[in-house]
Amino acid sequence: MIFLDAAATTPVRREVLEAMWPYLSGEFGNPSSHHTLGEAAASALAGARAAVAKVLGCRPGEVTFTSGGTEADNLALKGVALARQSADPALNRVVISAVEHPAVEESARYLERIHGFAVDVLPVGADGRVSVEALRAMLRPETALVSIMYANNEVGTVQPVAELAAVAAEHGVPFHTDAVQAAGWMPLDVKALGVDALSISGHKLGAPKGSGVLYVRGRVRVEPLVHGGGQERGRRSGTENVAGAVALATALTLAHAERPELAARVAGLRERFIASVLDTVPGALLTGHRTERLPSVASFCFPGTSGESVLLELERLGVVCSSGSACAAGSDAPSHVLLALGLEAEVAQTAVRFSFNSTVTADELEQAVAAVQTAVGAVQGLGTR
Ligand code: PLP
Repeated sequence: MIFLDAAATTPVRREVLEAMWPYLSGEFGNPSSHHTLGEAAASALAGARAAVAKVLGCRPGEVTFTSGGTEADNLALKGVALARQSADPALNRVVISAVEHPAVEESARYLERIHGFAVDVLPVGADGRVSVEALRAMLRPETALVSIMYANNEVGTVQPVAELAAVAAEHGVPFHTDAVQAAGWMPLDVKALGVDALSISGHKLGAPKGSGVLYVRGRVRVEPLVHGGGQERGRRSGTENVAGAVALATALTLAHAERPELAARVAGLRERFIASVLDTVPGALLTGHRTERLPSVASFCFPGTSGESVLLELERLGVVCSSGSACAAGSDAPSHVLLALGLEAEVAQTAVRFSFNSTVTADELEQAVAAVQTAVGAVQGLGTR
């Protein structure tokens, strides 16, 4: 099997399993316990927090461990917006882009539905990028938060996060970015990016599902969503997932060290893959930005097919990929991301996303291109019979 669905999830890396194993077995303590087992767990958690902080270029106290990317996004959106809400409900607003993951979009809709916030949605161009000027025009003094993703999970387009964050800072508005897909592939220094909050998910990086991080800059207040024993400096109660935190920290540290070389190698493979698919598959259409995209994502529409049928054919030929976002799996509705890029619903239904992990090879991608030609040809042939 050739696995080209790494944007959905990745296997746990051996080094990560080895690092987390002690905290699932012999060192199983609760970090809040006042005995040596508890202290060992607390010290592992502190080590993991320091390691994440080192990669992000922040202070350990600015790192909150969560149950994944979805929770990190929820805490950023609801936590920051609710901490900043005005007594006059007419003044409360948040800005998101039109291509956010549902974890951000639905959190904003919750703020709208339950707390009366207005949600300003920043459109994107045909390449999936938002405009810095459009953000500037949309900001109001009362905007509680801006949330614009670093890199899109369906088409891989990378946003000009540092420029966008600078515009928000000019207006004194906190800026959050969902870096779930960017982590491992793009620089994550929060000072260089100028962001106030940033979400990461472990399972996109070789750590287990159910581990995540939210960075929040020191002076930005966050209203907790989960109440209880006051763990994570009161931001996220609940006995900490020590093994998950150690796993995420290990995976992030490895990815950070490997990134410069890895990103260049995989971007080269991606370029060749895109060129081969466009050259050899009739009608193939690249979605997302031509160059400002994750090294690891190549996404297409194959007009005249159905994305789901192409996927089935590809799987039969030994290539596993996705029709877009795994998080929207099971839904027949055309992707809101592709519609936001201006594609017709009929074309959006023909989307297929190929996403690569760190071990992808040129040989695998050559085989995948041949499989795509066969699969698309087979599905188009069915349609015209
Ligand atoms: N944000 C983006 C951009 C994602 O791609 C995903 C997962 O696919 C998430 C958030 C949610 O992360 P998790 O699966 O850890 O809840």
